[in-house]
Amino acid sequence: MDHFLYRNGVMHAEDVPLTDIAARVGTPFYVYSTATLTRHFQLFEEALGDLPHLICFAMKSNSNQAVIKHLASLGAGMDVVSGGEYLRAKAAGVPGEKIVFSGIGKTADEMRLALTGGIRQFNVESEPEMQRLSRVAVELGAKAPITIRVNPDVDAKTHAKIATGRSEDKFGIPIARAREVYALAASLPGLEVIGIDVHIGSQLTDLEPFEIAYNKVAELTHQLRADGHTISRLDLGGGLGIPYERSNSAPPLPIEYGEVIKRTVGHLGCEIEIEPGRLISGNAGLLVASTIYVKNGEGRDFLILDAAMNDLIRPAMYGAWHDIVPVLEPTPGAEQAPYDIVGPVCESGDTFAKQRNMPPVKEGDLIAFRSAGAYGAVMSSEYNTRPLIPEVLVKGDQFAVIRARPSFDDIINRDTVPEWV
Ligand SMILES: *Cc1c(COP(=O)(O)O)cnc(C)c1O
Repeated sequence: MDHFLYRNGVMHAEDVPLTDIAARVGTPFYVYSTATLTRHFQLFEEALGDLPHLICFAMKSNSNQAVIKHLASLGAGMDVVSGGEYLRAKAAGVPGEKIVFSGIGKTADEMRLALTGGIRQFNVESEPEMQRLSRVAVELGAKAPITIRVNPDVDAKTHAKIATGRSEDKFGIPIARAREVYALAASLPGLEVIGIDVHIGSQLTDLEPFEIAYNKVAELTHQLRADGHTISRLDLGGGLGIPYERSNSAPPLPIEYGEVIKRTVGHLGCEIEIEPGRLISGNAGLLVASTIYVKNGEGRDFLILDAAMNDLIRPAMYGAWHDIVPVLEPTPGAEQAPYDIVGPVCESGDTFAKQRNMPPVKEGDLIAFRSAGAYGAVMSSEYNTRPLIPEVLVKGDQFAVIRARPSFDDIINRDTVPEWV
């Protein structure tokens, strides 16, 4: 569910007509709904209920300061995957004790940053990382709280590029070697082992892989405790999928996911962390674009939009589907026709959808991409010297630009030309 609905013939974000935002900021732009962000965060709160828990928003899905500040105000912690995201979380006022640091390639500088600024835990992914983190912590006279990310070797049955829990994936340590690796961690002077971490992939539309992985984590918890380790926290990762194609998908609900968690690990007396990104931010955002041209090709018609793959790369990168709808409500029963919906970038991959049925579209019409709040703006670039597009946040009948479009001068002046050129 989200808060983007037609009212009086115009799609609104909460109480704001998208046409008003387009008139003020120009297209293309991203727009987020505060009410949807709130609702999705609260669905997870309700799903975990009275289990001791912290929901750490995966900032890599959407790291705008206004978005994370809003989620933090609801009680969210943050899951960060770089020093930059860590600093963004701190800048939004998130205390170190609510920030978890994930990722397979943390540098010594990033470790220092988090150890001095405060950190809830590092989710460590390899033995060399453990060694380095211990060394950095000892140098700082600190102890780094850690979980170790185990790779449970389960197939998340999702897109290959976002499956992370199979043995061939680069993430975590094989669960079969966990006891040995925990023993090493316990012997390192700069580390304090506090738990186990697992994250098997993204856009999961089936609960079974979670159930299998979490059962393995429960079994491992018993083994590690028997080996003398303190396991007081389980970080269960993110990954719950969303309905990108509303007409034919209904992924599991957070409440059902919560039941899997309670059933598999709820009895262990551990504090539970989850790291949802997409499910909180995905359907809280739209990408709004204008139609530059309608081009009649041979046997197919193209809608050429002012948004492109540099603004929303998911279709080009993952073959991802986004529902694409006109901002002005089509008349009921309007006949549909297939279009290839493309951007202006000089790559055939700059195609959002092929042969997509749409009501009639003409030059200048506004088009909205649904489910664009996650892995949209954060993955955008300025390829073809197309400025990063603005992000707008709506709350009720108010809206604000939360990231402005840079000027061409801003872009050009970022380069410097050495005197010897
Ligand atoms: C990407 C990622 C997440 C978030 O995944 P979603 O599918 O957006 O929920 C959480 N944890 C880790 C370690 C990740 O890499």
